[in-house]
Amino acid sequence: MPDIRPTVGSGALVLNATYEPLCVVSVRRAAILVLTAKAVCVADGDGVLHSARDSLPVPSVVRLTRFVRVPFRAHVGLSRRAIFARDGWRCAYCRGPAETIDHVLPRSRGGRHSWENVVAACARCNHTKGDKTPAELGWRLPAPPTAPKGIAWRVLGHRPPDPRWVDWLDLREPEAA
Ligand SMILES: [Zn+2]
Repeated sequence: MPDIRPTVGSGALVLNATYEPLCVVSVRRAAILVLTAKAVCVADGDGVLHSARDSLPVPSVVRLTRFVRVPFRAHVGLSRRAIFARDGWRCAYCRGPAETIDHVLPRSRGGRHSWENVVAACARCNHTKGDKTPAELGWRLPAPPTAPKGIAWRVLGHRPPDPRWVDWLDLREPEAA
């Protein structure tokens, strides 16, 4: 394997041979795919990668030369960062900056740890809410929480998308509120 020293830390978007977005990998991994002819670079990033013998532009988007069948991951993993990203880092109750995760129906009352029952919340609202439901406090959620959908979420998760990837990821979908 060539000794590649990437100059940037951001990742590269990998497309299937059919241009379907698959995943995000490190720039180093994307460069190796290109150097071993497993992928072609379709959009350059910033800078140049150097190896002992080669140098090539930092890949930002690469396309696999052969189609790979990928098991379809239907569900977006429920993580703290993913919940914050879905809710725009805003408290679901007061719209202030969110620092905590709140279970809408409290866990002590049988509330599940699922996309439909978690929201980002500020510490103050979370503390005030305690073991109560929003209805008991006269609070209203702007919309019922749902699992994020769409190809961008499946590929990116909580990662902020690189602007060079918008042509391949349908980022014009309405954001899950
Ligand atoms: Zn709040």
